[in-house]
Amino acid sequence: MKSVATIKIKIPYNSLLADTMKTYSKCINYISDIGFKNKVINRYKLHHLVYYKAKDKFNLPSQFIINAIRIASQTLKSVKTNKGNKPIFKDIMPLDFDKRTFNFSFEKVRITTINGRKDIPIEVPEYYWKYLDWNYQTMRITIDKFNRMFLHISFARDINTDISCSNGKTVGVDVGINHIAVTSDKKFFRGNKVKQYRIKFKNLRSKLQSKGTRSSRKLLKKISGRENRFKTWINHNISRQIISDCGAGDTIVLENIKNIRKGSRGKRFNFWLNGWSFYQLQNFITYKAVINGIKIIKVNPCHTSQRCSKCGNLGIRSKGFFKCVHCEYSLNSDLNASFNLAKHSSICESVSVPVTEPYIPNDDSKAIFCGNADEFRDNFPESPTL
Ligand SMILES: [Zn+2]
Repeated sequence: MKSVATIKIKIPYNSLLADTMKTYSKCINYISDIGFKNKVINRYKLHHLVYYKAKDKFNLPSQFIINAIRIASQTLKSVKTNKGNKPIFKDIMPLDFDKRTFNFSFEKVRITTINGRKDIPIEVPEYYWKYLDWNYQTMRITIDKFNRMFLHISFARDINTDISCSNGKTVGVDVGINHIAVTSDKKFFRGNKVKQYRIKFKNLRSKLQSKGTRSSRKLLKKISGRENRFKTWINHNISRQIISDCGAGDTIVLENIKNIRKGSRGKRFNFWLNGWSFYQLQNFITYKAVINGIKIIKVNPCHTSQRCSKCGNLGIRSKGFFKCVHCEYSLNSDLNASFNLAKHSSICESVSVPVTEPYIPNDDSKAIFCGNADEFRDNFPESPTL
C-alpha cells in the first residue's frame, strides 16, 4: 500500500519562476485557442496540431508543452457545458513538475525554467522532516493574490501492510455527541472550548452577514478561513494524541461516518457532524496510523451507541450516560460506544486512504487559540471497570 503526503513550502518571490509561469499560461491559452478554432479537443490530435508550433513560439521545455496541451484539452472538453464560450485562462497558472523537471533535496529544489535548470533554496519546516526520507513525486508552484509563492511537493512511501503478525491492542474511537472523540483507552477529548469558539465564530458570522457591505464580506471570508484552520489544528492535535498512545501492530477501530450521515443518531448529532469535520479527524487519524504501522478498521456504527458494551443488550441513554436495562451496567455513553467499537474489530472490512496533509500556518492558529489540545483531554473521573 502507498501512503502519500503533500507539503507546502513558502519561498521568496522569484521573478524567473513567475516569468516561466506566465509564459506557460500564455502557451496554454495559445494551444486552447487553436484547439477551439479548429474544434480539436482530443489530447493526441491536439498534440499533433500544436506541439511544434508551440515549441517554436514559446521557449518552454517539452514537458511543459505536453502539460499545457493536457490542460487545454481538458478545458476544451468542458466548453460544451460552458455555453460554448472560448476558455480563458489566468495570467499565471499553477506550474506542475515531475521527476523529469525537478529534483528535491533538503535545502534546495532544482527546477526547469525558461532559462534552463535553476536551484531554488528552500527551508523545510521541522514539522515536515518526517517525510524527507520518502520518495518525492511531483511538485506544483502556485502564486496567490498577495504574490506569495508556494511549492507543493508530494511524497510517497510504500507501507508494509502485513498485519498477520500483529497481536497488539485494539482501540475504539468514538466521535461526536458530547465529546469530539472518546477512546476505549478512556481518553476523552472534550468539545466545550471548541463549542465556545464555534459560537463566537457563528455570532460574528451572522453579524457580518446582516451588514452585507463589501468590507464585511471580505472579513467574512477571512473569518471562515480562520475558523477552518482552527478546526484543522484541533483535529491534528487530537489525532496525534490518539496515535501517540498506540504502536505498530495495534488496531484502531473507527465508525464508518458515511452511514452516520443518514441521521441514525438524531438531530443533535447531525448539528455536530455538520459543524465539525469529523471526516477530517478520521482522515488525520488514518494517515497518522498508516505512518506508524497501525491498522485502521472502519465499522458500521449501527447499535454502537445503543447497546451495552458488557452484555450486548439495549440500554437507555440520558444526559451523556448509558445505562443497560439488562445488567444495569452504567457508564459515559461515548465511552460505551468506543468499547463497542473496540469489540467490533474482527468483523468488518479494513480501509486505507492516502491523505493529503494540509498546510497549517502555525502562527495563525496560535493567534486564535492559545493553549494546547491537552485542555480538551480529560480523564473520566470514575473509570468504569470492564
Ligand atoms: Zn448490559
